[in-house]
Amino acid sequence: MFRRILIANRGEIALRIIRACHELGVEAVCVYSQADKDAAYLRLADRAICIGPAPAKDSYLNISRIISAAEVADVDAIHPGYGFLAERADFSEICRDCKIEFIGPSPEAMRKLGDKVEAKNYARVAKVPVFPGSEGAIEDEEEAVKTAAEIGYPVIIKAAAGGGGRGMRVCHNEASLRTNLRNCAQEARAAFGDGSVFLEKFLEKARHVEVQVIGDKHGHAVHLFERDCSMQRRHQKLIEESPAPGVERKKINAVCEAAARLVRSAEYAGAATVEFLMDDDQNFYMLEVNTRVQVEHPVTEMVTGVDIVQTSIRVAAGEPLPFKQKDITTAGHAIECRINAEDPARGFMPSPGKVETWRVPGGPGVRVDTHISAGDRIPPTYDSMVGKLIVHADDRDAAIRRAARALAEFEVGPIKSTIPMHRELMADSAFVRGGVDIHFLERRLK
Ligand code: ADP
Repeated sequence: MFRRILIANRGEIALRIIRACHELGVEAVCVYSQADKDAAYLRLADRAICIGPAPAKDSYLNISRIISAAEVADVDAIHPGYGFLAERADFSEICRDCKIEFIGPSPEAMRKLGDKVEAKNYARVAKVPVFPGSEGAIEDEEEAVKTAAEIGYPVIIKAAAGGGGRGMRVCHNEASLRTNLRNCAQEARAAFGDGSVFLEKFLEKARHVEVQVIGDKHGHAVHLFERDCSMQRRHQKLIEESPAPGVERKKINAVCEAAARLVRSAEYAGAATVEFLMDDDQNFYMLEVNTRVQVEHPVTEMVTGVDIVQTSIRVAAGEPLPFKQKDITTAGHAIECRINAEDPARGFMPSPGKVETWRVPGGPGVRVDTHISAGDRIPPTYDSMVGKLIVHADDRDAAIRRAARALAEFEVGPIKSTIPMHRELMADSAFVRGGVDIHFLERRLK
């Protein structure tokens, strides 16, 4: 096991990793920007090192400053968390060159599954269901027009290197396909430095169901079942749960097994998530693979009892996975509500500033992952997610009631948050019934 790990991140995930380190008997070193210098969670680290000013490019995204901090602190490994440098294969490679273990996949495995076109190729081989569409990047316009006619409109053009909901265009006919192809490639080149685009069938109504997987360096990989993350706004997830309500177990289990095959075939070590859209007939189509731990990982931890963060540290240290697929079972139902410092009444505008009141719920089956304490200041510079409420109960109805109870206890002010919206959603008949699609929340907010 490592002696000391540097956490190249901030906020709730930095604290989640500090906790995992301490339970493993490992020292945790945090880096922080000037915007976070007074953040209370830094006191829980064994050491905290300032790496620069507030803008992420000068601090949390600045590889040379992070590597310098790692060398000064004499760490054996770096945990990137999610966001920032987590999916940068060049960062994973630099860590390796500096003889610092990157807690996550090798640069090779990250390139295989992190690129959307490459990932689809691996998925086809592993028999993971994918969207009908172009096989690989589009080489010429006529070929794309032919493919679109075959799969039928609407289709979606995507940038191979895209992410964060950017670099995508939906086309309803041939004329818009031709125009968008040129624009999309140009935009992708400007935004991601890679102009390759591909084509997929566009699903008008879908649910977002994803599979948690984890692999080790000895060729083993298992899945930890699924999460339903259909409650979204502008592609941002707001509620996640497991199991996915109303999905036929046989179908979802087959998809979970396929996801595990996919990571195995890419010789992938670490945690990953294989994301799918599911149509009304419960057919699955892979969207992409996220090559890191996700915000919503606690949902899976609650139903499987597996500590995903600790396990990924163990596999990075070279330990084999401590369980086999048959050892993984799920119990009960878990729901996560993301607490964002945003004002849903004002179009989800960020609501940074000083937190005067921060009273978190507790009691049976309630977990709150947050770095915030009363008196903290939420900087306007970074993501507005300031915490997650995760509940676990015997079944979905009980989990919803527990979430409603916990949300009623949660007091935050004067900053605005998504808590009142979550309280409403826990009482929404469509949510309570289960199985809302990815556009449900946007329709409801109109
Ligand atoms: P990103 O990496 O930018 O998150 P994804 O491929 O994961 O891109 O897609 C983001 C979102 O775009 C999905 O959650 C879904 O809402 C929508 N989307 C992507 N592909 C399709 C598709 N083929 N049909 C319908 N919606 C899609």
